[in-house]
Formats: sequence, C-alpha cells, structure tokens
Amino acid sequence: MKIYPSELHEYAYCPRYYFFHVHLGRRLTLREKLRMLLGRLFHWAKGVPDRLKGRHVEEAIEVEVGSGIVLRGRPDSFEVGPESVLVIERKSGRGPRRGVWISDSTQASAYAFMLARLLDARDVKIRVEYASKARSASLDEEKVYRLLKIIDEIILVREYGIVPYAKRSPRRCARCPFREICELLDKEKGDLEIYEPGSWLADTDIDLSFT
Ligand code: SF4
Repeated sequence: MKIYPSELHEYAYCPRYYFFHVHLGRRLTLREKLRMLLGRLFHWAKGVPDRLKGRHVEEAIEVEVGSGIVLRGRPDSFEVGPESVLVIERKSGRGPRRGVWISDSTQASAYAFMLARLLDARDVKIRVEYASKARSASLDEEKVYRLLKIIDEIILVREYGIVPYAKRSPRRCARCPFREICELLDKEKGDLEIYEPGSWLADTDIDLSFT
C-alpha cells in the first residue's frame, strides 16, 4: 500500500474530507484546475534558483513505514549537508499569522521523516515557505508521532472505509464540495456515540513549533 504526503496533508486538513475524496472522488472545478496550474508554475519558478544552488528539486523518494506500507513522494526541494538535511515545502497561499497550518506541517514532516530515514541524518530542519513569509522548525518526536498516527488512521479509512471525524470550521466547510453529504451524514448519525478517527485533530489547526 502506498501513501503519499499529499494524502497526509488532506487528512490533517479535515479527516472527513479525505474520506469523501478517497471513496467518492470528484471532478475538479475550473477554479481548482486553474489554481493547480498556477501552483505548478509557482513551484517551477521557485525550483530554478534551487537547482542553481545545488538543491534536489522534486526528486521521488520512498521509505517503508510498516509491513507493506510505503510512504512515497516528491519534496519540493531539499538540501543535504554533513549529517543534516533541510527540507523546503512551498505553498502559494499566505499561511497563518503565526506558525504554519497543521496540514502543511504534516506534509513537510513526512518528507523530512523519509529523508531522515534514507540518509540517516540526525539534524533535520523543515522550512515551509508561503507566498510572503517562511517558517522553520526541526523534525521532532511530536511531528513524527502525529505523522505515524495519521498513517495508521489513513489505513483504517482507505482499507476499511471507517468514517472519520468532521473537522468543521466555517471557512473550511463553506468551500467544501462535500458539505451537503457531510451534514446529512452527521444528521443521520444523530447522537450515536462512535469513535471517529481524527477527532484528536479537532483543535489542531496551526503548528506553532514553526517560527
Ligand atoms: S463539510 Fe467541513 S467537516 Fe465536512 S468534509 Fe467538508 S470540510 Fe470537512
């Protein structure tokens, strides 16, 4: 089973959204397609100076994280030093006022974790670059714990169809293409007490370890 850091990003954003995306799929709207193309342009433009600096740009990497479970992805950019790695994750959005979005932190931590394992690096730094600011942190135990917990839950959601937690927020839900079915699901479920994977992410929107 292959898991991509972009899936971890989506799960941290809203576990229920990830569930719908995996099990229902959907066509992108014109606006989303445009944003995707602009995102590609943005990454391409930023990759040029990185290449000139000798950094690795969008190179495919993968590591096994459990029996038969492989984490695979392409970090935007990374730089390897003696026993150290710097991972750069770029986002075309503005980012939060402090820290970084937990979804961005999780995705970047996945690349950092993979490179730490592949290169046996002890000092692993992560930099998340938004359109107008950059925030940095080290790969620490908390980030690795969160990452592995999300991988476990993604397996439950993908393989067993378990419905995870709906991480509601007015901003997130207002632009969610699955809003109707998500609300209907919770209405039908009523007060039924069931464990929903991802509920521990309820109050986690920002990773303040990035400064
Ligand atoms: S409506 Fe909100 S809670 Fe439901 S899937 Fe969409 S973003 Fe998540």
